[in-house]
Amino acid sequence: MSNTPLNMDAFDREHLWHPYTSAVDPLPVYKVSHAHGSTIVLEDGTELIDGMSSWWCAIHGYNHPVLNQAASDQLQKMSHVMFGGFTHDPAIELGKLLLRIAPPSMDRIFYADSGSVAVEVALKMAVQYWAVQGKTQKQNIATIRQGYHGDTWNAMSVCDPVTGMHQIFGTSLPTRLFVPAPESGFYDPWDAADTHELEQLFATNHHEMAAFIIEPIVQGAGGMRFYHPQYLRELKRLCEQYGVLLIFDEIATGFGRTGKMFAWEHAGVEPDIMCIGKGLTGGYMTLSAVLATAQVAELLSSGSPGVFMHGPTFMGNPLACAVARSSTELLLAQDWQATVQRIDAQLTEALAPAKTWSWVRDVRVLGTIGVIEMQDPVDMAVLQKEFVRRGIWVRPFGRLVYIMPPYVISKQELHTLTRELLAVVQQMGAGQ
Ligand code: PMP
Repeated sequence: MSNTPLNMDAFDREHLWHPYTSAVDPLPVYKVSHAHGSTIVLEDGTELIDGMSSWWCAIHGYNHPVLNQAASDQLQKMSHVMFGGFTHDPAIELGKLLLRIAPPSMDRIFYADSGSVAVEVALKMAVQYWAVQGKTQKQNIATIRQGYHGDTWNAMSVCDPVTGMHQIFGTSLPTRLFVPAPESGFYDPWDAADTHELEQLFATNHHEMAAFIIEPIVQGAGGMRFYHPQYLRELKRLCEQYGVLLIFDEIATGFGRTGKMFAWEHAGVEPDIMCIGKGLTGGYMTLSAVLATAQVAELLSSGSPGVFMHGPTFMGNPLACAVARSSTELLLAQDWQATVQRIDAQLTEALAPAKTWSWVRDVRVLGTIGVIEMQDPVDMAVLQKEFVRRGIWVRPFGRLVYIMPPYVISKQELHTLTRELLAVVQQMGAGQ
Protein backbone atom coordinates (compact mmCIF):
# COMPACT_ATOMS: atom_id res chain seq x y z
CA MET A 1 0.00 0.00 0.00
CA SER A 2 1.40 3.41 -0.95
CA ASN A 3 1.91 5.82 1.92
CA THR A 4 1.93 8.89 -0.30
CA PRO A 5 -1.19 11.01 -0.05
CA LEU A 6 -2.33 12.44 -3.37
CA ASN A 7 -1.86 16.04 -2.44
CA MET A 8 1.71 15.73 -1.25
CA ASP A 9 4.06 18.33 -2.70
CA ALA A 10 7.31 17.17 -4.34
CA PHE A 11 9.31 20.19 -3.16
CA ASP A 12 8.20 19.55 0.38
CA ARG A 13 9.24 15.92 0.16
CA GLU A 14 12.66 16.74 -1.28
CA HIS A 15 13.61 19.83 0.72
CA LEU A 16 11.54 20.42 3.84
CA TRP A 17 12.38 18.63 7.03
CA HIS A 18 9.33 17.62 9.05
CA PRO A 19 9.34 16.78 12.76
CA TYR A 20 10.25 13.29 13.91
CA THR A 21 10.63 11.84 10.43
CA SER A 22 13.42 11.02 8.02
CA ALA A 23 14.79 13.81 5.83
CA VAL A 24 15.34 11.42 2.93
CA ASP A 25 12.39 9.06 3.26
CA PRO A 26 9.84 11.09 5.18
CA LEU A 27 6.45 9.94 6.34
CA PRO A 28 3.65 11.42 4.24
CA VAL A 29 2.33 14.89 4.92
CA TYR A 30 -0.97 16.45 3.86
CA LYS A 31 -1.10 19.89 2.32
CA VAL A 32 -3.44 22.22 4.22
CA SER A 33 -5.20 25.01 2.41
CA HIS A 34 -6.99 26.67 5.32
CA ALA A 35 -8.69 25.98 8.63
CA HIS A 36 -11.66 27.35 10.58
CA GLY A 37 -13.29 26.38 13.87
CA SER A 38 -12.50 22.69 14.40
CA THR A 39 -12.07 22.02 10.68
CA ILE A 40 -8.82 21.70 8.75
CA VAL A 41 -9.28 21.86 4.98
CA LEU A 42 -6.77 20.14 2.70
CA GLU A 43 -5.77 21.47 -0.69
CA ASP A 44 -8.00 18.95 -2.47
CA GLY A 45 -11.00 20.11 -0.45
CA THR A 46 -11.00 17.25 2.07
CA GLU A 47 -12.32 18.46 5.41
CA LEU A 48 -10.88 17.02 8.61
CA ILE A 49 -12.31 17.36 12.10
CA ASP A 50 -9.35 18.36 14.24
CA GLY A 51 -8.55 16.07 17.17
CA MET A 52 -5.11 17.52 17.91
CA SER A 53 -5.53 21.30 18.37
CA SER A 54 -2.27 21.48 16.39
CA TRP A 55 -0.23 19.82 19.10
CA TRP A 56 -2.56 21.01 21.84
CA CYS A 57 -2.38 24.77 21.33
CA ALA A 58 -5.36 25.85 19.16
CA ILE A 59 -7.78 25.99 22.08
CA HIS A 60 -10.28 28.29 20.34
CA GLY A 61 -10.00 26.51 17.00
CA TYR A 62 -8.73 28.10 13.79
CA ASN A 63 -9.31 31.43 12.12
CA HIS A 64 -11.13 32.88 15.09
CA PRO A 65 -12.57 36.34 14.31
CA VAL A 66 -11.65 37.76 17.74
CA LEU A 67 -8.03 36.60 17.56
CA ASN A 68 -7.78 37.66 13.91
CA GLN A 69 -8.94 41.13 14.92
CA ALA A 70 -6.43 41.32 17.78
CA ALA A 71 -3.60 40.39 15.42
CA SER A 72 -4.67 42.79 12.73
CA ASP A 73 -5.16 45.68 15.22
CA GLN A 74 -1.70 45.11 16.62
CA LEU A 75 -0.18 44.91 13.12
CA GLN A 76 -1.40 48.44 12.43
CA LYS A 77 0.72 49.62 15.38
CA MET A 78 3.82 47.43 15.28
CA SER A 79 4.54 43.78 14.85
CA HIS A 80 7.71 43.80 16.86
CA VAL A 81 10.00 46.02 18.84
CA MET A 82 12.86 44.92 21.06
CA PHE A 83 12.08 44.36 24.75
CA GLY A 84 15.50 45.55 25.88
CA GLY A 85 14.97 49.20 26.86
CA PHE A 86 11.36 49.27 25.61
CA THR A 87 8.03 48.09 26.92
CA HIS A 88 4.51 48.20 25.47
CA ASP A 89 0.85 47.67 26.29
CA PRO A 90 0.54 44.16 24.83
CA ALA A 91 3.23 42.85 27.20
CA ILE A 92 1.88 44.80 30.18
CA GLU A 93 -1.78 43.92 29.68
CA LEU A 94 -1.00 40.25 29.03
CA GLY A 95 1.16 40.20 32.16
CA LYS A 96 -1.68 41.59 34.29
CA LEU A 97 -4.02 38.91 32.95
CA LEU A 98 -1.52 36.11 33.53
CA LEU A 99 -0.96 37.09 37.14
CA ARG A 100 -4.74 37.04 37.64
CA ILE A 101 -4.98 33.40 36.59
CA ALA A 102 -1.58 32.08 37.74
CA PRO A 103 -0.90 30.55 41.16
CA PRO A 104 -1.10 33.40 43.73
CA SER A 105 2.61 33.08 44.55
CA MET A 106 3.67 33.96 41.01
CA ASP A 107 4.89 37.53 40.75
CA ARG A 108 7.40 38.02 37.90
CA ILE A 109 7.02 37.13 34.25
CA PHE A 110 9.76 36.40 31.76
CA TYR A 111 8.45 36.17 28.18
CA ALA A 112 10.19 33.66 25.94
CA ASP A 113 9.81 32.24 22.46
CA SER A 114 8.59 28.66 22.72
CA GLY A 115 7.87 25.99 25.29
CA SER A 116 11.35 24.53 25.07
CA VAL A 117 12.96 27.93 25.53
CA ALA A 118 10.74 28.57 28.55
CA VAL A 119 12.10 25.35 30.06
CA GLU A 120 15.68 26.47 29.31
CA VAL A 121 14.95 29.79 31.01
CA ALA A 122 13.38 28.13 34.05
CA LEU A 123 16.37 25.80 34.51
CA LYS A 124 18.82 28.67 34.14
CA MET A 125 16.85 30.67 36.72
CA ALA A 126 17.04 27.80 39.18
CA VAL A 127 20.79 27.35 38.82
CA GLN A 128 21.48 31.08 39.07
CA TYR A 129 19.20 31.36 42.11
CA TRP A 130 21.51 29.07 44.07
CA ALA A 131 24.75 30.36 42.52
CA VAL A 132 24.14 33.93 43.73
CA GLN A 133 23.74 32.51 47.24
CA GLY A 134 27.16 30.89 46.96
CA LYS A 135 25.65 27.40 46.60
CA THR A 136 27.49 26.68 43.38
CA GLN A 137 27.29 22.91 43.88
CA LYS A 138 23.49 23.08 43.41
CA GLN A 139 23.55 22.85 39.63
CA ASN A 140 21.77 19.68 38.72
CA ILE A 141 18.09 19.12 37.92
CA ALA A 142 15.88 16.22 39.01
CA THR A 143 12.73 14.95 37.39
CA ILE A 144 10.54 11.89 36.89
CA ARG A 145 10.76 9.40 34.05
CA GLN A 146 8.25 9.46 31.19
CA GLY A 147 8.28 13.25 31.15
CA TYR A 148 8.59 15.57 28.18
CA HIS A 149 9.84 19.15 28.37
CA GLY A 150 10.91 20.04 24.83
CA ASP A 151 13.59 19.40 22.27
CA THR A 152 16.31 21.93 23.08
CA TRP A 153 19.45 20.81 24.86
CA ASN A 154 18.57 21.16 28.53
CA ALA A 155 14.87 20.57 28.00
CA MET A 156 15.83 17.31 26.29
CA SER A 157 18.08 16.34 29.19
CA VAL A 158 15.03 16.21 31.49
CA CYS A 159 12.84 14.29 29.03
CA ASP A 160 12.46 10.56 29.60
CA PRO A 161 15.88 9.03 28.87
CA VAL A 162 14.39 6.32 26.63
CA THR A 163 11.84 8.27 24.59
CA GLY A 164 14.18 11.29 24.69
CA MET A 165 16.88 9.02 23.21
CA HIS A 166 19.56 10.19 25.62
CA GLN A 167 21.91 7.40 24.60
CA ILE A 168 22.36 8.94 21.12
CA PHE A 169 23.75 12.13 22.59
CA GLY A 170 26.00 10.45 25.11
CA THR A 171 27.99 12.74 27.36
CA SER A 172 27.17 15.82 25.30
CA LEU A 173 23.85 15.85 27.14
CA PRO A 174 23.90 16.89 30.82
CA THR A 175 23.21 13.90 33.09
CA ARG A 176 20.14 14.52 35.21
CA LEU A 177 18.64 12.80 38.23
CA PHE A 178 15.64 10.61 37.47
CA VAL A 179 13.10 8.80 39.64
CA PRO A 180 10.28 6.56 38.40
CA ALA A 181 7.05 8.32 37.48
CA PRO A 182 4.22 7.80 40.02
CA GLU A 183 2.16 4.68 39.43
CA SER A 184 -0.97 5.93 41.26
CA GLY A 185 -3.26 7.19 38.54
CA PHE A 186 -5.32 10.36 38.83
CA TYR A 187 -8.48 8.42 39.67
CA ASP A 188 -6.77 5.66 41.72
CA PRO A 189 -6.32 5.52 45.50
CA TRP A 190 -2.98 7.01 46.53
CA ASP A 191 -0.16 4.51 47.05
CA ALA A 192 2.48 5.91 49.43
CA ALA A 193 5.08 3.61 47.84
CA ASP A 194 5.11 6.05 44.92
CA THR A 195 7.37 8.41 46.83
CA HIS A 196 9.94 5.94 48.22
CA GLU A 197 12.54 6.59 45.54
CA LEU A 198 11.67 10.26 45.56
CA GLU A 199 12.42 10.49 49.29
CA GLN A 200 15.72 8.71 48.74
CA LEU A 201 16.64 10.97 45.86
CA PHE A 202 16.17 14.09 47.98
CA ALA A 203 17.94 12.62 51.00
CA THR A 204 20.97 11.57 48.95
CA ASN A 205 21.25 14.24 46.27
CA HIS A 206 19.75 17.48 47.57
CA HIS A 207 23.20 19.10 47.85
CA GLU A 208 23.51 19.06 44.08
CA MET A 209 19.84 19.70 43.20
CA ALA A 210 18.93 23.20 42.01
CA ALA A 211 15.39 22.23 41.03
CA PHE A 212 12.89 19.49 40.41
CA ILE A 213 10.97 19.93 37.16
CA ILE A 214 7.69 18.17 36.49
CA GLU A 215 4.57 18.36 34.35
CA PRO A 216 1.82 18.62 36.97
CA ILE A 217 -0.87 15.88 36.82
CA VAL A 218 -0.55 15.08 33.10
CA GLN A 219 2.62 13.73 31.55
CA GLY A 220 2.06 14.61 27.91
CA ALA A 221 4.34 13.59 25.06
CA GLY A 222 6.23 11.20 27.36
CA GLY A 223 3.23 8.87 27.70
CA MET A 224 -0.07 10.72 28.21
CA ARG A 225 -0.20 9.62 31.84
CA PHE A 226 -2.50 11.16 34.47
CA TYR A 227 -1.06 10.77 37.95
CA HIS A 228 -2.32 11.30 41.48
CA PRO A 229 -2.34 14.88 42.90
CA GLN A 230 -0.89 13.60 46.17
CA TYR A 231 2.43 13.08 44.39
CA LEU A 232 2.74 16.84 43.89
CA ARG A 233 1.98 17.49 47.57
CA GLU A 234 4.70 15.06 48.65
CA LEU A 235 7.11 16.54 46.12
CA LYS A 236 6.45 20.06 47.39
CA ARG A 237 7.04 18.92 50.97
CA LEU A 238 10.41 17.42 50.00
CA CYS A 239 11.42 20.50 48.00
CA GLU A 240 10.74 22.69 51.02
CA GLN A 241 12.39 20.30 53.46
CA TYR A 242 15.60 20.00 51.44
CA GLY A 243 15.81 23.43 49.80
CA VAL A 244 15.14 22.57 46.15
CA LEU A 245 13.16 24.78 43.76
CA LEU A 246 10.01 23.32 42.26
CA ILE A 247 9.37 24.00 38.57
CA PHE A 248 5.99 23.19 37.03
CA ASP A 249 5.96 22.75 33.28
CA GLU A 250 2.35 23.75 32.51
CA ILE A 251 3.05 24.20 28.81
CA ALA A 252 0.67 21.40 27.80
CA THR A 253 -1.67 21.49 30.80
CA GLY A 254 -2.37 25.23 30.93
CA PHE A 255 -5.42 27.21 29.83
CA GLY A 256 -8.08 24.75 30.88
CA ARG A 257 -6.90 21.54 29.19
CA THR A 258 -7.25 19.38 32.29
CA GLY A 259 -10.44 21.00 33.60
CA LYS A 260 -8.61 23.56 35.75
CA MET A 261 -7.07 26.77 34.41
CA PHE A 262 -3.69 25.27 35.35
CA ALA A 263 -3.11 21.71 36.54
CA TRP A 264 -1.47 22.72 39.86
CA GLU A 265 -4.98 23.50 41.05
CA HIS A 266 -5.81 19.77 41.17
CA ALA A 267 -3.27 19.44 44.00
CA GLY A 268 -3.34 22.93 45.50
CA VAL A 269 0.44 22.99 45.36
CA GLU A 270 2.25 26.04 44.02
CA PRO A 271 5.63 25.97 42.31
CA ASP A 272 8.52 28.43 42.61
CA ILE A 273 8.80 28.71 38.83
CA MET A 274 6.20 27.86 36.19
CA CYS A 275 6.42 27.53 32.41
CA ILE A 276 3.46 28.22 30.15
CA GLY A 277 3.12 28.20 26.35
CA LYS A 278 1.07 26.41 23.68
CA GLY A 279 -2.52 27.60 24.42
CA LEU A 280 -1.16 30.98 25.56
CA THR A 281 -1.71 32.52 22.10
CA GLY A 282 -4.65 30.25 21.29
CA GLY A 283 -2.24 28.49 18.96
CA TYR A 284 -1.80 31.55 16.72
CA MET A 285 1.95 31.93 17.06
CA THR A 286 4.79 30.93 19.28
CA LEU A 287 5.06 32.55 22.69
CA SER A 288 5.82 31.25 26.13
CA ALA A 289 6.35 32.69 29.57
CA VAL A 290 8.22 31.74 32.70
CA LEU A 291 6.55 32.88 35.89
CA ALA A 292 8.47 33.09 39.15
CA THR A 293 7.82 34.02 42.76
CA ALA A 294 9.02 37.38 44.01
CA GLN A 295 11.48 35.52 46.20
CA VAL A 296 13.13 33.75 43.25
CA ALA A 297 13.28 36.98 41.23
CA GLU A 298 14.60 39.06 44.11
CA LEU A 299 17.28 36.61 45.21
CA LEU A 300 18.34 36.03 41.64
CA SER A 301 18.75 39.77 41.13
CA SER A 302 20.80 40.20 44.28
CA GLY A 303 24.56 39.72 44.36
CA SER A 304 26.62 39.28 41.22
CA PRO A 305 25.89 39.62 38.28
CA GLY A 306 22.56 41.02 39.58
CA VAL A 307 20.77 40.30 36.31
CA PHE A 308 19.35 37.25 34.61
CA MET A 309 21.46 36.51 31.55
CA HIS A 310 18.83 35.75 28.96
CA GLY A 311 17.31 38.03 26.31
CA PRO A 312 15.93 36.51 23.13
CA THR A 313 15.42 38.72 20.07
CA PHE A 314 11.68 38.21 20.06
CA MET A 315 11.20 38.51 23.81
CA GLY A 316 7.78 39.99 24.59
CA ASN A 317 6.88 40.15 20.88
CA PRO A 318 3.96 42.64 20.76
CA LEU A 319 2.02 40.76 18.09
CA ALA A 320 2.18 37.50 20.04
CA CYS A 321 1.39 39.24 23.34
CA ALA A 322 -1.63 41.02 21.82
CA VAL A 323 -3.04 37.76 20.49
CA ALA A 324 -2.25 35.98 23.78
CA ARG A 325 -4.11 38.67 25.69
CA SER A 326 -7.08 38.38 23.38
CA SER A 327 -7.04 34.57 23.58
CA THR A 328 -6.90 34.58 27.37
CA GLU A 329 -9.68 37.18 27.61
CA LEU A 330 -11.76 35.11 25.21
CA LEU A 331 -11.29 32.07 27.43
CA LEU A 332 -12.14 33.95 30.62
CA ALA A 333 -15.21 35.56 29.05
CA GLN A 334 -16.89 32.18 28.54
CA ASP A 335 -17.92 29.35 30.81
CA TRP A 336 -14.85 27.35 29.76
CA GLN A 337 -15.15 24.97 32.73
CA ALA A 338 -18.60 23.89 31.52
CA THR A 339 -17.21 23.42 27.99
CA VAL A 340 -14.30 21.32 29.19
CA GLN A 341 -16.63 19.29 31.43
CA ARG A 342 -18.98 18.67 28.52
CA ILE A 343 -16.08 17.45 26.35
CA ASP A 344 -14.76 15.35 29.26
CA ALA A 345 -18.16 13.66 29.76
CA GLN A 346 -18.65 13.06 26.05
CA LEU A 347 -15.13 11.63 25.63
CA THR A 348 -15.57 9.39 28.68
CA GLU A 349 -18.75 7.92 27.32
CA ALA A 350 -17.69 7.69 23.70
CA LEU A 351 -14.30 6.04 24.30
CA ALA A 352 -15.55 3.58 26.95
CA PRO A 353 -16.31 0.69 24.53
CA ALA A 354 -12.59 0.38 23.74
CA LYS A 355 -11.92 -0.57 27.38
CA THR A 356 -13.14 -4.11 26.75
CA TRP A 357 -10.98 -4.77 23.67
CA SER A 358 -8.05 -7.07 24.32
CA TRP A 359 -5.67 -5.07 22.07
CA VAL A 360 -6.34 -1.95 24.16
CA ARG A 361 -4.35 -1.58 27.38
CA ASP A 362 -6.15 1.41 28.87
CA VAL A 363 -8.64 4.15 28.11
CA ARG A 364 -8.46 7.37 30.11
CA VAL A 365 -9.92 10.85 29.96
CA LEU A 366 -9.12 14.05 31.81
CA GLY A 367 -10.60 17.38 30.75
CA THR A 368 -10.36 17.58 26.97
CA ILE A 369 -7.71 14.84 26.77
CA GLY A 370 -8.89 11.41 25.64
CA VAL A 371 -6.35 8.60 25.45
CA ILE A 372 -6.55 5.05 24.11
CA GLU A 373 -3.38 3.23 25.05
CA MET A 374 -2.82 0.16 22.87
CA GLN A 375 -1.01 -3.00 23.91
CA ASP A 376 1.50 -2.55 21.05
CA PRO A 377 2.98 0.40 19.18
CA VAL A 378 0.86 1.57 16.26
CA ASP A 379 1.93 2.26 12.67
CA MET A 380 1.42 5.98 12.62
CA ALA A 381 1.57 6.44 8.83
CA VAL A 382 -0.99 3.72 8.14
CA LEU A 383 -3.32 4.91 10.89
CA GLN A 384 -3.05 8.54 9.91
CA LYS A 385 -3.99 7.73 6.33
CA GLU A 386 -7.05 5.85 7.57
CA PHE A 387 -8.04 8.72 9.86
CA VAL A 388 -7.80 11.18 6.96
CA ARG A 389 -9.85 8.87 4.76
CA ARG A 390 -12.52 9.02 7.47
CA GLY A 391 -12.36 12.81 7.75
CA ILE A 392 -10.62 13.22 11.09
CA TRP A 393 -7.18 14.47 12.12
CA VAL A 394 -5.53 12.31 14.75
CA ARG A 395 -1.79 11.75 15.06
CA PRO A 396 -0.88 8.84 17.32
CA PHE A 397 2.57 8.07 18.68
CA GLY A 398 4.03 4.91 20.19
CA ARG A 399 1.18 2.94 21.78
CA LEU A 400 -0.96 6.04 22.17
CA VAL A 401 -3.94 6.99 20.08
CA TYR A 402 -5.24 10.15 21.68
CA ILE A 403 -7.26 13.28 21.00
CA MET A 404 -7.13 16.81 22.41
CA PRO A 405 -9.70 18.73 20.38
CA PRO A 406 -10.14 22.50 20.35
CA TYR A 407 -12.68 23.65 22.95
CA VAL A 408 -14.93 25.00 20.16
CA ILE A 409 -15.60 21.51 18.86
CA SER A 410 -19.36 20.93 18.65
CA LYS A 411 -21.12 17.95 20.17
CA GLN A 412 -21.79 16.57 16.69
CA GLU A 413 -18.18 17.08 15.53
CA LEU A 414 -16.88 15.37 18.65
CA HIS A 415 -19.33 12.55 18.08
CA THR A 416 -18.00 12.04 14.53
CA LEU A 417 -14.40 12.33 15.72
CA THR A 418 -14.77 9.66 18.42
CA ARG A 419 -16.95 7.38 16.26
CA GLU A 420 -14.35 7.30 13.47
CA LEU A 421 -11.48 7.03 15.93
CA LEU A 422 -13.07 4.01 17.58
CA ALA A 423 -13.83 2.43 14.21
CA VAL A 424 -10.12 2.59 13.32
CA VAL A 425 -9.03 1.24 16.70
CA GLN A 426 -11.57 -1.58 16.36
CA GLN A 427 -10.20 -2.43 12.90
CA MET A 428 -6.75 -2.76 14.41
CA GLY A 429 -8.03 -5.57 16.60
CA ALA A 430 -9.66 -7.30 13.65
CA GLY A 431 -6.30 -7.19 11.87
CA GLN A 432 -4.58 -9.13 14.65
N1 PMP B 1 6.86 21.07 27.80
C1 PMP B 1 5.75 20.34 27.57
C2 PMP B 1 5.02 19.73 28.74
C3 PMP B 1 5.30 20.13 26.27
O1 PMP B 1 4.21 19.36 26.06
C4 PMP B 1 6.00 20.74 25.20
C5 PMP B 1 5.55 20.57 23.76
N2 PMP B 1 4.87 19.41 23.44
C6 PMP B 1 7.14 21.49 25.48
C7 PMP B 1 7.53 21.66 26.80
C8 PMP B 1 7.94 22.14 24.39
O2 PMP B 1 7.24 23.20 23.81
P1 PMP B 1 7.64 23.70 22.35
O3 PMP B 1 7.34 22.59 21.41
O4 PMP B 1 6.78 24.92 22.15
O5 PMP B 1 9.10 24.03 22.38
